[in-house]
Amino acid sequence: MKVPSNLVKDIRDYYCEKLCYIYDRKEADSMILILFDYYFKISRVKMLLEPDLRLSESEMLKIHFAVKDLLKYKPIQYVIGETEFCDLRFKLNENVLIPRPETSELVRMIADSCKLSSVGNILDIGTGSGCIAISLAKMLPQSQVFAMDISEKALDVAKENAANNNENVIFIHDDILSLRNDIETKFDIIVSNPPYVREMEKTDMRDNVLNWEPHGALFVSDDDPMIFYKSILEFSKTHLNENGQVWLEINEFLGKEMLSLCQDLGFCNIRIIKDFREKERFMRLNINQTSRLGS
Ligand code: GLN
Repeated sequence: MKVPSNLVKDIRDYYCEKLCYIYDRKEADSMILILFDYYFKISRVKMLLEPDLRLSESEMLKIHFAVKDLLKYKPIQYVIGETEFCDLRFKLNENVLIPRPETSELVRMIADSCKLSSVGNILDIGTGSGCIAISLAKMLPQSQVFAMDISEKALDVAKENAANNNENVIFIHDDILSLRNDIETKFDIIVSNPPYVREMEKTDMRDNVLNWEPHGALFVSDDDPMIFYKSILEFSKTHLNENGQVWLEINEFLGKEMLSLCQDLGFCNIRIIKDFREKERFMRLNINQTSRLGS
């Protein structure tokens, strides 16, 4: 089969058909529209208004190669190298996770809960693309946001995103499981969306996640799935200001275990919050003042 013409509407149909090998028609068509919009600023409306719109040879090649990547299950966000999160644009590559819609719920909840108080320092542990840290910096302009990641390549992406969104975030290259830096700052908010998918859950995941997204940002061993939370919470005990809060994105199947971990570590006001899919996805907690002073 050959592309029937260089008319935009023919190209749309032709490549949509190709993508239908692995995606349903609606998803396939919306991907083609994203490509048209991203590469050529051709919107759905423009296509309707100008049915004779045509692409040049080199423009057609761009679509050709993008569709080739999509057919290898490469997520569209990596194909075009960007995405939207909390109304901001973020550059992405395969060194960082693609921000999920539920994570934007977490950001909005944190921002809402901070509107009435004056939040000073915020720390995002395992920042990846920087989407949480940078969105919070935008929503809470009076705060100073810090963001940590073990991956230098992820930090490069996050730094570029902070610059593109005009936010001044302080980046820390470190591993929460064994910190090298002496972090003396205290925080009002510590937030994290650490790796939490157990190896055993891999079988339920789609190829576009499994084959393309960084496993280090996603997976934990079946034997010790709370490994990151333990370190984050221990760190929080010594680095949270009075009345400070920890906000976590969690594995929907591990709510009960997370609850006992937080209680064992002396946290209080622990709340598990559901995401828009009704899954137990977030936790909010405070430091227990007496245990902090006593420890
Ligand atoms: N929610 C992500 C997913 O389903 C996982 C994010 C994480 O491990 N922190 O792929």
